[in-house]
Amino acid sequence: IKDMADDEAIQATNDDASECKRYAVQLGYWSDPFINFFVKQTGRKAPEINRGYYARVKGIEVFVDKFIKLSGEKGQIINLGAGFDTLYWRLKEAGKCPANFIELDFPSITARKCYHIKKHKQLIDMLNTEDGEIRFSTTDLHAANYHLVGIDLRHISELTNKLTQAEVNFNLPTMFLTECVLVYVDAGAASALLKWLAGKFSNSIFINYEQVNMKDKFGQIMLSNLRSRGCLLAGVEDCESLETQQRRFTINNWEGSNAWTMVEVYDSLPQDDRRRIEHIEMLDEQELLVQLLQHYCISVAWNGQTFKNLSIAQG
Ligand code: SAM
Repeated sequence: IKDMADDEAIQATNDDASECKRYAVQLGYWSDPFINFFVKQTGRKAPEINRGYYARVKGIEVFVDKFIKLSGEKGQIINLGAGFDTLYWRLKEAGKCPANFIELDFPSITARKCYHIKKHKQLIDMLNTEDGEIRFSTTDLHAANYHLVGIDLRHISELTNKLTQAEVNFNLPTMFLTECVLVYVDAGAASALLKWLAGKFSNSIFINYEQVNMKDKFGQIMLSNLRSRGCLLAGVEDCESLETQQRRFTINNWEGSNAWTMVEVYDSLPQDDRRRIEHIEMLDEQELLVQLLQHYCISVAWNGQTFKNLSIAQG
């Protein structure tokens, strides 16, 4: 029962992320014409939260763009714990769609995402279909190059089957994305997942956004950080530092890895765009933003030569 309560709390983190994104989009931090199809309303969020989400979305976009440039239309994106992420539609709108796009999350979340997609013609119309056919079940959706599949990521034995249903191609250049996901998966299951993916996809890049620098000055994981929004951060040990973030990949058979705090990511974003968003809302305490950004990071890992050593720098 405790585990089920935790799973429900974990799934609720998707509502939180989607609401924060919608609120920041509404204020003009970045453009996302699709998020409001998934989230109806949001309460006000603090300016430093909005700026944090801006850095998160834009920082991930830097790597997505690099992946698309390097893999052309032959790439495959697999978003693990995708929640209500709108990346597929944003890429489609920008004319940058990869060969295949697969999203995985708990069935209860994918069912809700299927419902929103079905309900909005604008979303459906943008799904590529060769023969006009889109296959829906309660929890899964299959179109020509977009697949939404319900699975508990801790159940590796089901992954092959689910990915096969999603027409995965293990030989394509592949980008994995986990945005605030691995921290909710216990370290053993997260390791098994990373190892399994490394073994199956020899030409791939993994982009991970999550917490970092979770130890206090005595070297202890800060107790207040073990739970967030009522759920256990089961994978928090790997969020100790940039080094542990990188090592979790290399010890699980990824060839190399790198990691940056969100302070570095924020500073690397185009200056004119940062200036623009810094005028949207006043931030009385700059320090609040820096503290927030220091506790999140983007880590990147790769297999094969194509995506080796990609950096956060633009271009
Ligand atoms: N990646 C999305 C984003 O950034 O907008 C959602 C982030 S939300 C904080 C975390 C997501 O990870 C939730 O949608 C949750 O259901 C999913 N998740 C966590 N553990 C999972 C697991 N074991 N299996 C499948 N999905 C999981």
